[in-house]
Amino acid sequence: MITSPADDDTALATVEKAENHATAPRPASRRNRPTTLYDLTPAQLGERIADLGEPAYRANQIFDWTYDKKVTGYDGMANIPARLRTKLGDDLPFATMVPERELVTDNGDTAKMLYRTFEGQFVETVLMIYRDRVTVCVSCQVGCAVGCAFCATGIGGLTRNLTAGEMVQQTVDAARRAGELGRPLTNLVMMGMGEPLQNYAETMRFIGIIHDPSGMNFGARRITISTSGIVPRIDALALEPYQVNLAVSLHAPNDELRSRLVPINRRYPVAELMAACDRYIAATGRRISFEYALMNGINNSDEIARELGRLLYGRLCHVNIIPFNPVEMLDFERPDPAGIERFAEILRSMGTPATVRYSRGVEIAAACGQLRAQHTRAQLHEPATPVVPMAPVS
Ligand code: SAH
Ligand code: SF4
Repeated sequence: MITSPADDDTALATVEKAENHATAPRPASRRNRPTTLYDLTPAQLGERIADLGEPAYRANQIFDWTYDKKVTGYDGMANIPARLRTKLGDDLPFATMVPERELVTDNGDTAKMLYRTFEGQFVETVLMIYRDRVTVCVSCQVGCAVGCAFCATGIGGLTRNLTAGEMVQQTVDAARRAGELGRPLTNLVMMGMGEPLQNYAETMRFIGIIHDPSGMNFGARRITISTSGIVPRIDALALEPYQVNLAVSLHAPNDELRSRLVPINRRYPVAELMAACDRYIAATGRRISFEYALMNGINNSDEIARELGRLLYGRLCHVNIIPFNPVEMLDFERPDPAGIERFAEILRSMGTPATVRYSRGVEIAAACGQLRAQHTRAQLHEPATPVVPMAPVS
């Protein structure tokens, strides 16, 4: 288990090492991390089916059951012969994460799923129902090595990268859940636990699988990757074939403050990050969203708002102001509503579009990593804020 402090060089080196493992082929015997059906592209499933001596159309049928009908196991695949279902179940587990707990709030419009991985780790996914869209917030790591000062996920460091299949499972389950409510899943944000650009290969594989027209056919433009600012990976992302959206978690306009809040800034300082954002915009023609968690007395003064306005001036971008979500054990607080609006107004007056986005599901600890932290503490019999399971949405 990797429990490195979120310090720049050490953490990065550790993460790179972890990534190399995660990107290598992962037969079941290596690292004890089974490949599941959700890990496979249609072509890879086709190869498996051919290896089993089965006709090619079986792969299409299995993909249809998995991504269109969204069955939860091989048993539900009615037109697949029982002997093939058994063979597949032995060789290729359908999925490995087990739903451990579900919490619902906002009158049923926000649901949070806590999964248990095959080795007993916890992973969070949040489904948010809006009037005009349905969004899933997917996790890509257990923990995170970046260790931002205000984030619950980073507190214990990085445990491991999630596999593409574990991310696909979160997405398909959310789409099934949305479907049960009569709504299609329309948007996906990589804003759950973890830093997607430090689990780059699996994140790209994940996007490839859900984007595939013979699977979920989920539009790349409806996917947003959020990053704390891993500069070389922003450059890599600009070259990917997928037209995903990029959100950059800025949180401060200068190195002195940003290095305190987002430690990776010591490795990739603001000027380098901005240059990478400019290259990304030039290469893709797409607007970048900058995330800004607003914390009272930390990064919310008028002077800082003006400094941010100057930094972003003239860039094809939008600022999402996220009023800080309280995290147990962390001392930051959210400014009052008037102060939040004032910050946004200063940015707008300087020519940068800014929107205030209140996080959904604060009472079920929907901010990144909090439910996992509470659940883990509860398992260790430590006192924690009570989390009350609520009635299911349907
Ligand atoms: N690791 C990626 C994506 C996951 S975090 C990143 O950092 O961008 C998703 C967003 O939630 C980030 O902008 C992050 O800074 C923000 N965030 C984390 N903890 C928060 C909190 N307690 N209050 C408000 N925003 C928070
Ligand atoms: Fe990691 Fe993002 Fe949390 Fe920072 S905000 S610790 S990068 S998950």
